Amino acid sequence: MTDKCKICGSRNKNVLFELCSNLKLMGEHFPKSPSDMTECPNCGLVYVDMEATQKDFDKYYSSPNSNPFGYYEIYGEEHTNAYFNDILNKFRDKISKDSAILDHAGGSGDFTKFLLSNGYKNSEQLEISEKCAEIAKGKGVNTILINGCENPPKELEQKYDLITMIHSLEHFMDIDKVIENAKKMLKPNGYLYIEVPDASKYSNTGSVPYTMYTFEHIYHFTPDTMENLGRACGLELITKGQFFKAESYDVLYGLYKIGSKNEVKYTSSDKDAILEYRKTSAGRLEPFIKEFEKSQEKLILWGIGASTALLMNGTFDNCNVLQLIDRNKQRQGLNYKIGGREYKVEDPDTIKDKYATIVVLPYWYHDSIMKQIKDMGFENPVKSLM
Ligand SMILES: [Zn+2]
Repeated sequence: MTDKCKICGSRNKNVLFELCSNLKLMGEHFPKSPSDMTECPNCGLVYVDMEATQKDFDKYYSSPNSNPFGYYEIYGEEHTNAYFNDILNKFRDKISKDSAILDHAGGSGDFTKFLLSNGYKNSEQLEISEKCAEIAKGKGVNTILINGCENPPKELEQKYDLITMIHSLEHFMDIDKVIENAKKMLKPNGYLYIEVPDASKYSNTGSVPYTMYTFEHIYHFTPDTMENLGRACGLELITKGQFFKAESYDVLYGLYKIGSKNEVKYTSSDKDAILEYRKTSAGRLEPFIKEFEKSQEKLILWGIGASTALLMNGTFDNCNVLQLIDRNKQRQGLNYKIGGREYKVEDPDTIKDKYATIVVLPYWYHDSIMKQIKDMGFENPVKSLM
């Protein structure tokens, strides 16, 4: 399990609750062990404590089976452009069109492409996934292929005026290392923009219950823990704020410069938010599950992934589940226990009962699953959990 808090270094931890009993549900190469939502009692940071290593996650994200996140595909053009403009406004006055900009773990390159098309001609991105780099190349975006935890090559040292980490930091186990490396790549007066989901607003999100507990997010931040992040990692917090991302959910950002390390201050804001979200999620789920339990209709659960782990941990135990479906080959064949019965995740092609109700589980790929159900010609009734 995690040996110490990656922000403050404390070796103490408080387990808040079990997130899943078997990490293999993230992929075959993850260890067969449980994971817990955990609080550091010294600084108050909430993180997922597990036996997996950064290498397991590197493999997960760089696998050709992993789905590269496409903003335009998920949020549509209008919302995505408005969102990217919101981000740009956070540091527009700190940079010029000549600034060297790096988007950290930029995925399929959407944000860098946005910067380039707005005249920020020295923009590029960092990625671990070759598949993402290839997609980005098709958009005219240059990708440097390394992992955020690896030491950056010499030629990247002190190269950038601005590094953006837009929903990337919370995906890394070794966030201390990631920030150390970013500081190496920044010019002495450069800026680091960090944007993460806002845990203090999880309970307000209208997405599928428990979505924000996604396994891809190892860390959960609130405005207070963003301050601790700066103190612990030697970053001076210039501004911070909260806003609503692409008509989707609340986010939190901090704009930092290189500074000096300071003592962290304990805050219970992470823990309070995480426990509150668990309560509101269970409450929102209850009417759906009660109906399935009462009708005992056959259910086909579609979309088994990182964001549905807690949803799959006990929620459907008393329902009449027929099949588990996911189109991602990486997940097919994985074993799940629901209500004491064993299931294997199967390919959409295997759906045989045209009267069973398909329940679309994930939030982030909801629309593309709906489209696939339609494209594949299934006439089953379809329900969503939001
Ligand atoms: Zn800590």
